[in-house]
Amino acid sequence: MEQRETVFDKIIRRELPAEIVYEDDDTLAFLDINPNNMGHTLVIPKIPSRNMLDISPDSWTSLMRTLQRIAPAIMRAVGAEGLNIMMNNEPVAGQIVMHTHIHLIPRFSDDGYTHWPGHPYREGEMHAVGEKIRSMLR
Ligand code: AMP
Repeated sequence: MEQRETVFDKIIRRELPAEIVYEDDDTLAFLDINPNNMGHTLVIPKIPSRNMLDISPDSWTSLMRTLQRIAPAIMRAVGAEGLNIMMNNEPVAGQIVMHTHIHLIPRFSDDGYTHWPGHPYREGEMHAVGEKIRSMLR
């Protein structure tokens, strides 16, 4: 799919202000403007891609390196007890900005968030889905 210019490209080029907390040759990390919790950070690749489905393996690897580098610092800075790594891929999954980004969301025992509810498989369904996925990988 064609990669369109987004607000994050403007942040990379410093045409829009952002609270940047980390930068290297390949990635940039800045505070989310509408945080779920204090310290909520977005990590993006400088080379534009839409999301996890089309990013190059090299760009993905550099994102992961940055995540590991900055996550402990974010947690320490805001006194978090845990951290969620979240990524929305495509609009149906909640992606609004179509430039690859990973959310680092510090967690606190009293922040009130709960896990998504689970929906158990019906009889035989789990194996059928597993088989279908395996067949797509063959
Ligand atoms: P997503 O739903 O995964 O596409 O999330 C996009 C995120 O980008 C949201 O959490 C927004 O609050 C955040 N966001 C959008 N514009 C900006 C901006 N200019 N600076 C910082 N964060 C932004």
